Amino acid sequence: MTQQRTLSILKPDATRRNLTGKINSLIEGAGLKIVAQKRLHLSKQQAEAFYAVHKERPFFGELVDFMISGPVVVQVLEGENAVQKNRDIMGATDPKKAEPHTIRAQFAESIEANSVHGSDSLENAKQEISFFFAGIEILP
Ligand code: ADP
Ligand code: MG
Repeated sequence: MTQQRTLSILKPDATRRNLTGKINSLIEGAGLKIVAQKRLHLSKQQAEAFYAVHKERPFFGELVDFMISGPVVVQVLEGENAVQKNRDIMGATDPKKAEPHTIRAQFAESIEANSVHGSDSLENAKQEISFFFAGIEILP
């Protein structure tokens, strides 16, 4: 099995409700290692750039406003099959459709304020990690 890295973000609804420790516990409990982590308050320009792939979607403006509504925690997770493993523990985008025990089923407030972001492919993971982290900041 291959070791991978993926980008995770604990979103403003999670930092606002002081849930970062509980979510990190689920991430670590799934066997993923947090090899880089920082708390940031994204600017509008940064949030728009990060979510540029969604700029034609009807919820883009609201998504950007939500992502800049408070601090986020950006993380690099490392482990076997990390991209898919993190998507599995996150659960479906819409928390009403998420499997029980997933992060979103337990903590998300809505389809928008859904507590976590996770890269959806290895290629996007590489790009998203380099958006937030320099190599020197990642410490396995
Ligand atoms: P995921 O985060 O599960 O990969 P997407 O990449 O499709 O989901 O969407 C990015 C983010 O945009 C979601 O996590 C959520 O915060 C927001 N979002 C997605 N769909 C909607 C929607 N229908 N209405 C409002 N916000 C949405
Ligand atoms: Mg996505």
